[in-house]
Amino acid sequence: ETHLPNWLQRCADNTPQKQAISTPEIEWTFAEFNQQTIQLARQLSTLGIKQGSRVALLASNGVPFVVCVHALIRLGAVLVPLNVRLTLEEQLWLLRDVEAVALLSDAAYASRAAAIQQALPALTAARLQLETARRQVSLQGVAPDLHAPLLDEIELEATQAIMYTSGTTGTPKGVIITYKMQWWNAVGSALNLGHQADSDCWLLCMPLFHIGGLSILMKNVIYGIRIIVYEKFDAAIVNRAIREQGISIISVVAVMLQRMLAELDASQQRYPTTLRCVLLGGGPAPRPLLEDCASRNVPVVQTYGLTESCSQAVTLSPADALRKLGSAGRPLLPVQLRIVDKGVAVGPNQAGVICLKGPSITAGYDHRPDATAATIQDGWLTTGDIGYLDNEGYLYVLDRRSDLIISGGENIYPAEIEAVLLTHPDVAEVGVCGQPDPQWGQVPIAFVHLHAGSSLTPAELIAYATQRLARYKVPRSIYLTPPLPHNSSGKLLRRELPKLL
Ligand code: AMP
Ligand code: MG
Repeated sequence: ETHLPNWLQRCADNTPQKQAISTPEIEWTFAEFNQQTIQLARQLSTLGIKQGSRVALLASNGVPFVVCVHALIRLGAVLVPLNVRLTLEEQLWLLRDVEAVALLSDAAYASRAAAIQQALPALTAARLQLETARRQVSLQGVAPDLHAPLLDEIELEATQAIMYTSGTTGTPKGVIITYKMQWWNAVGSALNLGHQADSDCWLLCMPLFHIGGLSILMKNVIYGIRIIVYEKFDAAIVNRAIREQGISIISVVAVMLQRMLAELDASQQRYPTTLRCVLLGGGPAPRPLLEDCASRNVPVVQTYGLTESCSQAVTLSPADALRKLGSAGRPLLPVQLRIVDKGVAVGPNQAGVICLKGPSITAGYDHRPDATAATIQDGWLTTGDIGYLDNEGYLYVLDRRSDLIISGGENIYPAEIEAVLLTHPDVAEVGVCGQPDPQWGQVPIAFVHLHAGSSLTPAELIAYATQRLARYKVPRSIYLTPPLPHNSSGKLLRRELPKLL
């Protein structure tokens, strides 16, 4: 067993006066942040939350969420962040599945929390609030337990969180996230991107209930750097923060970055050199977007990861950004990667399933020994994503396997067709999926959202694709649609596409 000092406490000891976290409501030093955390932990203890308790959190991105995450660490309790966009039924399913003992919510989700409580009366429920007068986070109407057993140490093998995967495929499963995973993810990321203790500031505008957001909260206290947390993504606000607040790193998904660049053009602004890394992940990066960034000198860094790998597992270092445009990069130091086809590891330029191993990769799913055994063998996690390594060991992600379209025995990766259609200047957004076909088994079809004012017809776009794609990959039909369905982390929901018909 390995124990480390509590990360936030250590920051408060080492750099008490350093800026730790800012939101539109507060600006705290590490000393203040730590103090708030201890106060909330004492209140949570009064509710009976203790080591090992599974505590669901239903809250928007903000101070109550952040302080709650750290207070649970102080108690050794397990955080179960709920995706706020799920339906009541989906949340109830998940709360039962994880056997949560408590539900903490903020004011924004009060009515949903009440509905959950009615359906699950055994659940202890309490409301987190940010008292604006005292700028303090507290649990409404709960006295502090002055004898709360607060932990000074973090046991690396302990479970920090159980995070349900976003569910673009199948039933949700609770991924076990340990402190060890967070630690090695933070270390691996810093060894790649660099760590500038005095000047780094990470902007967080991704949902905290996904690993991409939560892992930044851990980097905040492992690195001892400042973070800025926004409730929602707003391109104008984010761009202004980058210009005015010395943001050095920001994590985004492709849609966000597209909107940021559009807003930058509209306001005729540029990014300052203090912005050293735009970490782009969560899904495939459209090539035109990467080229646009390259031509503007926007320091975009592609990354590949998943909940099971505690976010980033593979990252393109800034120096390779242009030379390897379109690649997700090389595995971070703690991560091993191999490509497996039909059970055997394959060599360069051969496509197969991406498999990962290392201390930042999960050991399994909560109470799903079958799913765990099916996914992890000898420490190797089968991601379900398809990709290949080039001659220099750089990863190219082709697609996730469940989206694979098989037509007349040929494998078709929807992302490839999407990338081609996106190169047409009139196309704003595109999603491709398979449609059953009596002759071929499946054929690809495409849903396309055009830029405003375009009069492009499906037939013209099919002609465009025919010039650029093998015949079997050319969409059988193209449907012009409003903006496409995305999940809360901005990922295209391909499964939902057929419903647009
Ligand atoms: P999640 O299950 O929500 O953690 O999402 C992880 C999934 O996002 C991965 O399994 C991939 O399918 C996808 N993904 C993440 N990063 C990339 C990337 N750089 N390129 C393509 N797909 C990605
Ligand atoms: Mg997943």
